[in-house]
Amino acid sequence: CGVFGVIGLTDASNFVALGLHALQHRGQEAGGIVCHQPGQGFHSARRFGYVRDNFTKESLMKTLPGPLAIGHVRYSTSGSKGPTQIRDVQPFFGEFSMGGAAIAHNGNITNAIALRRELIERGSIFQSSSDSECIIHLMARSLQRDIPERMEDALRRVEGAFSIVAMTGTELIGVRDPLGVRPLVLGRLGDGWVLSSETCGLDIIGAEFIREVAPGEMVVITEAEGIDSRFPFRPRKPRFCIFEHVYFSRPDSILGGRSVYETRRQIGVELAREAPVEADLVCPVPDSGTPAAIGYAHESGIPYGMGIIRNQYMGRTFIEPTEQIRNMGVRLKLNVNRALIRGKRVILVDDSVVRGTTSRKIKEMVLDAGAKEVHFRIASPPTSWPCFYGVDTPERDKLLAANMTEEEMTRYLEVDSLRFVSLNGLYRAVGEAQGRDTEHPQYCDACFSGEYPVEPTDMIDKGFQL
Ligand code: 5GP
Ligand code: SF4
Ligand code: MG
Repeated sequence: CGVFGVIGLTDASNFVALGLHALQHRGQEAGGIVCHQPGQGFHSARRFGYVRDNFTKESLMKTLPGPLAIGHVRYSTSGSKGPTQIRDVQPFFGEFSMGGAAIAHNGNITNAIALRRELIERGSIFQSSSDSECIIHLMARSLQRDIPERMEDALRRVEGAFSIVAMTGTELIGVRDPLGVRPLVLGRLGDGWVLSSETCGLDIIGAEFIREVAPGEMVVITEAEGIDSRFPFRPRKPRFCIFEHVYFSRPDSILGGRSVYETRRQIGVELAREAPVEADLVCPVPDSGTPAAIGYAHESGIPYGMGIIRNQYMGRTFIEPTEQIRNMGVRLKLNVNRALIRGKRVILVDDSVVRGTTSRKIKEMVLDAGAKEVHFRIASPPTSWPCFYGVDTPERDKLLAANMTEEEMTRYLEVDSLRFVSLNGLYRAVGEAQGRDTEHPQYCDACFSGEYPVEPTDMIDKGFQL
């Protein structure tokens, strides 16, 4: 998901709509905005579909006035079942004795089922099936006198990944979990302050990047006093999601001081060194494989070409939640550039293999177009474990790499070769010259290594085997 918030700018919700549009790659199912206008109170709108189709309408935006607003774009992750209902669309709102508050959450709470059970037994009435709603109910039970402190109380009971943008009538609040699994940055525009999942959300409104919200930090921002920073959790060594660098974030964003594009290009360089092959053409599987393909081509000296063309009017295939749509999705989204591919030995570079659906379809299309050989090079290690922290990887039985060796996958995909970048190669590409520190890994890489930095409590209760 993507989260965004603004304080201190006239018609803040317009800026939030723009920010959410820049974060649309983080979630395409639905979006919502909550805002506050002094004297009028809170307003909100939640809609299915793209930001640009909803939050550009004057009739809607007129109903979202005021200098303080937050928003969310949704992509449902492993916790949720079935299609999103409007009641699951964030931001969520709660009314407390000291006033209202709204929250927008990116990440996944790993003890949400346990918390929900306990809260329901004690009388909470849940409105949605979302893990994030726990936070509101935990806040309602806190005895603290102000909302930020209630939020601190609530979040100390929550396990897992959270980057949260929240608001009261006068405060904009940003929080990251102690490991800092998901990103969150702080920006400045005129007299206003901005919070965004990624820096590309600041760029779109011309805001200046100030700094990241630190892992374990809560910032409480008011128009009058600016930023109040606190650290409500027991400090831990950060474990940022390495897959944000590989796939999830936009290539024009800066994560941890590093250009995402440059990191991806560098993964391609590592791949070319680790897994060279004789061929005539390096083709990205667009768009997610493009920077790595550029790096692979540059390092190998093999010409780069756009052998696969992407229809710009389709979203991200993986994020469409049903199997059937995903299957069709590949063809709706990608087509082969026959004139370029015919007769060539082609290296296809993609960011990841999850179920293997994309790779299988693309290989067929490329062979149909007359390619002589097809070699897959993947810009992440084999995805063998599900993510419980906010990326929607499927259960282990649907993960290709969880059930097959590299050799078996090569045969299953019927390609001439298939190679993944090593975990150390990936770490080098994100700037860790020595590779992965096996004692204290610098990132979360659980989907590749199976080492989960936060115990997935709910999943273990459901029988998940570590
Ligand atoms: P597959 O077809 O193997 O299931 O999925 C692989 C494709 O899904 C890749 O092209 C990758 O860009 C894309 N993808 C989109 N979202 C995700 C995600 O959340 N996780 C992973 N691992 N891949 C994703
Ligand atoms: Fe990121 Fe993978 Fe960790 Fe999930 S399991 S937070 S996708 S690195
Ligand atoms: Mg892709």
